[in-house]
Amino acid sequence: MQPLELETGLIKFTHCKKDIYCRCVPESCPLCGQSAVRSWKLEDAPVSIPSPFVSGHRAQCSFVVKPTNGVFLGEYDGCSDLHVGITSSKGIVYNYNETGIHRDDAGWQQCVWVPLVPPDLYALIHQWDAYLEDFSAADYWLSHRYREQDHNCYTFALMFINSMLALQGKKKFNKNEFTERFVLPRTRRASKYITICTEISQNYFYIIHNPENRYN
Ligand SMILES: [Zn+2]
Repeated sequence: MQPLELETGLIKFTHCKKDIYCRCVPESCPLCGQSAVRSWKLEDAPVSIPSPFVSGHRAQCSFVVKPTNGVFLGEYDGCSDLHVGITSSKGIVYNYNETGIHRDDAGWQQCVWVPLVPPDLYALIHQWDAYLEDFSAADYWLSHRYREQDHNCYTFALMFINSMLALQGKKKFNKNEFTERFVLPRTRRASKYITICTEISQNYFYIIHNPENRYN
């Protein structure tokens, strides 16, 4: 497994009427052995599949998710604990756990992310870091207040998101609404991508036999 390489994305091409994912296009099709190149029609031409992961330190003003321990690609088993945080406009990840608030400038290199501010909302981006710092400094986020079930990293992130929405006169989200609408579509996509990468790291190719499993 070479996680760093796969972070840059995959290639998908079509041959033998199947979608085939790989790191780079091979000379011959792994199914029929014929030249993978010669039979290409325009609709079968290879397309690049971008990685669903970004570095939290390059994602400004975002909600970010990573495994509590380790990284997604090559290590995450699909059911271990996840940890979430909020990034500043400069890629510092603010996050809350049983030891209190942390302002991480490393360790969030491979995240699923939800951008929270349109890149042209300069006024909000300009104030974001000050709001985030003030919000994090509250006694509410002292370490002894932490409760794994209901006063945790997600509570911190969602309360900050809701406070920023309230500031803009917008409706708040409860945990389920935010998760279903913004987080799950992205973690599902990441999970499929991990499956494809795992298969490629073992067999060089991931071949879709059932079009319903297609990853686009
Ligand atoms: Zn073929």
